[in-house]
Amino acid sequence: MTHVVVLGSTNMDLVAYVSRAPGLGETVTGREFRTIPGGKGANQAVAAARAGAEVSMIGAVGSDEFGTRLRAGLTSAGVDTDLFRTVDAPSGTAHIVVDDEGANAIVVIPGANGTVTSLSPGDERLIATAQSLLLQLELPLSAVTAGAEAARRHGVRTILTPAPAQPLPPELLAATDLLVPNEHEAATLTGLTDPRAAADELLRHVPEVVITLGAAGSLHAARGTDPVTVPAPRVRAVDTTAAGDTFVGALAVALGEGKPVPDALAWASSAAALSVQRPGASSSMPYRTEIDTA
Ligand code: AMP
Repeated sequence: MTHVVVLGSTNMDLVAYVSRAPGLGETVTGREFRTIPGGKGANQAVAAARAGAEVSMIGAVGSDEFGTRLRAGLTSAGVDTDLFRTVDAPSGTAHIVVDDEGANAIVVIPGANGTVTSLSPGDERLIATAQSLLLQLELPLSAVTAGAEAARRHGVRTILTPAPAQPLPPELLAATDLLVPNEHEAATLTGLTDPRAAADELLRHVPEVVITLGAAGSLHAARGTDPVTVPAPRVRAVDTTAAGDTFVGALAVALGEGKPVPDALAWASSAAALSVQRPGASSSMPYRTEIDTA
């Protein structure tokens, strides 16, 4: 079984469903409210666990009701939370308004996630035991960089999802093995809207890139090889929330088990395609047997 460590965020998503989002100074009456466990780190952890990895999570929640629920959600997905911190700060929250067209507006309050600024010696020992370390940009960059550098010291593959997109420090890029932006993040990072051109530019900084292209699949590029586009299965998407996190979690499992890159991408695409056919974030993520038989 491949061992994946996730160093990342955990948020409670507070979602208001409205027919039309309010403008500034305006009040509207919505239809429904839901609290849904989320955060890119936790989503990737659950995706990798369901895809068949042994997963450990490093991050933090607050000592509040959301924190209790978020930790329990990880534990019930089989994610090891021994080093997952409970801190004296509110749990991270994402305040989301979704309208009838499916468009959304989001405010993220990092809360406890913002307290993870560095790694403990125990965190580094845990990272050293993994095949892959999954990183995103919802924790302070100091911790993300420290995690990537620790993984590099121990020969652990680092897989970075550069979301939310922002300029990446050179030290973080230098310790990244595989960068997995979506096409919007790739464009923000490079200023180039053509995914092939963006991949070429990113390869100047990291050795391997996968750009996810929504329903069009994904593009793999590595130094010294020709780029390959792997199409996504044709499915009827009902909710693409966390499709990218499902893809990355499954990709880490496939690569950790030694699948060749094209097979790993196809397997991750199958996982993501299953997730877009169901509503929700972690609730939509497929189990290994479903991915294997898709
Ligand atoms: P995205 O973050 O939108 O690029 O999506 C991540 C991955 O999810 C893609 O590379 C696809 O594998 C999968 N995916 C997203 N949207 C769809 C869709 N409409 N149909 C099938 N697969 C999808």
